[in-house]
Parts: sequence; structure tokens; C-alpha cells
Amino acid sequence: MKNLLFIILFLPTFIFSQFSGNQTPTYKKLVQFYDSLAQKKQVELYNMGISDCGLPIYLCVLNGENDSLKTFQNFKNQTNILINNGIHPGEPDGINACGKITLDYVNKDLKIDKNLTFSFILCYNVDGMMNRCSSSRANQNGPEEYGFRGNAQNLDLNRDFIKMDSENAFTFVKIFQAINPDIFIDTHVSNGADYQYTLTLIHSIKKRLELPFQILTYKHFVPEMESAMQKYQIDLFPYVESVEEIPDKGIAAFNDLPRYAMGYASLFPCISVTTETHMLKPFPQRVEATYLYLKELILWTKKNSKTLKNVRRQELESLQKNQFYLYNFQQTTEKDSVLFKGFEHGYKKSDVTGLDRLYYDRTKPFERKIPYFNKYQAQDSAKIPQFYVVGLQCKEVISRLKQNKIEMRQLTQDSLINLSFFQVEDYKNGLKPYEGHFLHKEMKIKEKESKIQLKKGDYLISTKQEKKKFICSVLEPETEDSYFAWNFFDSYLQEKEYFSDYVFEDLAVEILTESPELHSLFDEKKKNDSKFRESQWEQLYFIYQNSIYFEESFMRLPVFKVY
Ligand SMILES: [Zn+2]
Repeated sequence: MKNLLFIILFLPTFIFSQFSGNQTPTYKKLVQFYDSLAQKKQVELYNMGISDCGLPIYLCVLNGENDSLKTFQNFKNQTNILINNGIHPGEPDGINACGKITLDYVNKDLKIDKNLTFSFILCYNVDGMMNRCSSSRANQNGPEEYGFRGNAQNLDLNRDFIKMDSENAFTFVKIFQAINPDIFIDTHVSNGADYQYTLTLIHSIKKRLELPFQILTYKHFVPEMESAMQKYQIDLFPYVESVEEIPDKGIAAFNDLPRYAMGYASLFPCISVTTETHMLKPFPQRVEATYLYLKELILWTKKNSKTLKNVRRQELESLQKNQFYLYNFQQTTEKDSVLFKGFEHGYKKSDVTGLDRLYYDRTKPFERKIPYFNKYQAQDSAKIPQFYVVGLQCKEVISRLKQNKIEMRQLTQDSLINLSFFQVEDYKNGLKPYEGHFLHKEMKIKEKESKIQLKKGDYLISTKQEKKKFICSVLEPETEDSYFAWNFFDSYLQEKEYFSDYVFEDLAVEILTESPELHSLFDEKKKNDSKFRESQWEQLYFIYQNSIYFEESFMRLPVFKVY
């Protein structure tokens, strides 16, 4: 008992030192810390679900109602900030920063407005955090010990938000959909070049946003946060993705695909940001920068709460009016110019290889304008239907749509209707798996019309709902992170029946005789295609493919569109 009292009384102080120095707490200590505060009703702590190893993933809510039912109900009326920490547990800056925010809140040094909630996931990749060491971030300046990037399945969870291979992703989606945040932040530490900034940021690329969010993000949120951080002499700068070896030659805006936390979040939509502190800056300095950014974020949100709510509504209205879904965003050659605070670089002989090696000279800081390739343009678009239909047999897809709280209803009877369907014509795969998948790329998919037999129980999904952007992004098969791209419909890419050529020979003659149209196509192909002309199998297959014997389900996805 004495020991327990000691732990409860002194734990926050003990942990405080862990949030401030070159240390980050273990998961056990982290949970103990928040649990001790929750028991005193200073914060709310919720076990929201499990990780792949069955460990609990906790959400801490500051400024809730101190009552689970009321807190979760009130998310609907409040302005909500949600922070995701520890997706890469080797980058625990956000874990410590949120600890400092919590201590400020508990000590009443930080007041959060009545209509505002600040929630954060203590650590999302719990299994990775348990895999603690001090060597997996070879180029990072602290903390002394930290977790590992891969989760228990060795997945990078920051590629898992659409495919949802992990239990963690199901838990995250539950949290995200319950809170429906107005602002979402995913906290990280960068790799790459050396430069003067401690904190860099990724925001949604402009063209992915509707006009209301474009203006709010780029004309207000970004510059106002930049100027707010000036009181701490902290310069904010876009995430440094160099187009060549060094940033002096230019940097490119990051393409926030829906597979990433911030790309997923922005579909709903909300202001979505990734914070990236610089790996060569000392850990306490990185934590401080993340902490001050979050503190200023609370103040900005407090000041702009009404505007944020209004603009979010306008963004949703604008999305609702869209008749086309834009995808395949590619960076253009257009560029802006940004003032960059870097270090001069040079090359010298490497002691290891004897070849030239790059180095940055920290004694020679510079400020100069560099090109910023931040313009993206959608290369493709798809007409948005009134409804999508997904076959009830697609259980993995349906469970993901349900977890995302997509409104759906099931057909009450079998129906034969004229519908648009997707016919896969071509796609490419890499030679090595990517995050447990052979992700499809360069997909060529044609929309065709036909009478389709729908089944009782198939799912009808209206696009007249707030989550329209998410629905299109996963069900339009040609998009970069569609369920098709992530292999959910691969069984439809394989034929199930075949023919024996020596038997089919006689039938092929009959088919050609009965269809003069096919006969002339066949003759023409034979005339113009020498490879075809010399292959018995190819010729028979051509006739088979164009006959009633060929299976309709081959390369046809069980997703349909009703215009
Ligand atoms: Zn990261």
C-alpha cells in the first residue's frame, strides 16, 4: 500500500523528467502516468481497441466531459483536435510533447476553451514501442531508448490506413470516426538532408482540397501558425524532400496519398498535418518544438473555432457538388520560390570507401531562395455515381467500410438491373512486395454497361453522404489507394474455367460459322498479327474469349455504379 501511494504521488514528477530530458517513457510507464491522472479525474483515458499483439491502444482526452458517454456524444458539437503519436515509435517526439501539454493542462498553465477538445493517442504502434532499443534510428540524435518502426506484423502502419492489415488500423479508424476531428496531426521525425530548421511540416497538397480548405489552410492556418511560432524564434518550414541530393536544388511537396495517416484524415475532410522534427537536432529541442507547435495549435483553434467549423461545412458542400472524382495527382514542373535556411555543403574523400562523400558544414549557415515544386495536377477523373454497389461476398471491403461508418443498405431482393461495371484491362505489379502486398499500379480499367444480376444482401452505398470523398477514393478502382489497388479483388483477376484445345477445335468452327462478325475479326487479326497467326492456342483462345463459353466474372470487379 505504501508503495502504491508512493507511485501515485510521485509518478507524474518522475515521468515529467522523462518528458523533458533525453528520454521517452516505456509504454508501461506512459500508461501508468495517464492512468494516475485519469483516476484523479484530471484527464480522461480510454482503451479504444487493440494492437496486432492484443495490447490496448489508449486515447487521452483533455477537456472532455469527464463522463465517457457525454464526452463521446459531445465530440459532435465541439471543435476537436486529434493527435496521433508513436506510429513510428523510434520517433517519439509527439509522445513527450503531449505529456508536456497534459502536465500544463493539469497544472492549469494551459487553458483549453470550453468548446474545444484536445485528444491524443498515447502511442499508436504499441507493439513497435515494446520493441525497445537504442540503435534502430542510426542517424537520430536521441532519445536514449525508443521503439521500432515496424509493428508486430512488421508493417509500417503509416501505409496501412486504407488496406487496414493491422488491428491497430481498425482501432485508429474507430477513434478517428468517433472524434471526427477538425484538425488532425500525425507526429514524426524526419530523415534526409541537414538544414537549420527543427520543425518541418507536411500539409495536404492544394489541389486535393476544395477551395474553402485551400484558402483556410494556405492563406490562414499555415502563415498564422508560422507567425505564432516566431515568438519562440522557431521557423516552420515545409518538409524537406530534396529533388536532388541536396535541398539547394529544390524541394518537392509531399504527395499525401490516403494510405498515410494525414492523407486518410484529409478525406473526411479536416485540416491534416504531419509534423516532422529534424533527426540531427537534440531530442529535447525536437520535443520542445513539437510541444510549442501543439500549444499554439490549441490557441489558433480556439481563436478560429467558428471559422473552422464554417469552412469545414463549406468544404463538405463543395465536395457534395462535385460530379467527378480527381485522382492520380502528379507533380508539375511549375515551382514557387521559398527562402531556405540551410548549411553549405561540400564533398570530401570518404575514410570508408575512398570515394567522394557529401558533408554539410554547420559553421556555414546560409539563407537563400530555392525552388519549391508544390504544384500537383490530377491526371485522371472518374464520374461520381449516385450509388456504388458492392457485392455482399466482399466481406473484407464491407468490414472496412463499416469501420469507417459509411452509410450503406442491403438490397432486400435479387434484382437484374442495367449498371456500369469495371472491366480490368491491364495493371502492373512490382517485383517485390510492398507492405505485405503486390500493389497494383498503372491500372487500366474500363467502365462498361450491362444488365447485372444483383443479389439480395448486396450493399448499396449512396454518394450523398459526408464521406463521399473516402467512398470514391477506395471504390474507384483506378485510384492510387483503391481497394482494387490494394489487392482486395485479386480473385477476379484469374480465370476459373478453361478449354481443351483438341476438343474446342470443332466447337470453334461452329462458333465462327454462326458469327460472321467474329469470323471477320478473327481473319483480320490473323492477317495483321504474325505471332497470332503462328499460335494455335492464341487463335483458339481468341475465339473462346469472344464466345458464350467465356466467363463473365474474369477481370470484372464486384463493384458497380448506378448513375
Ligand atoms: Zn515517421
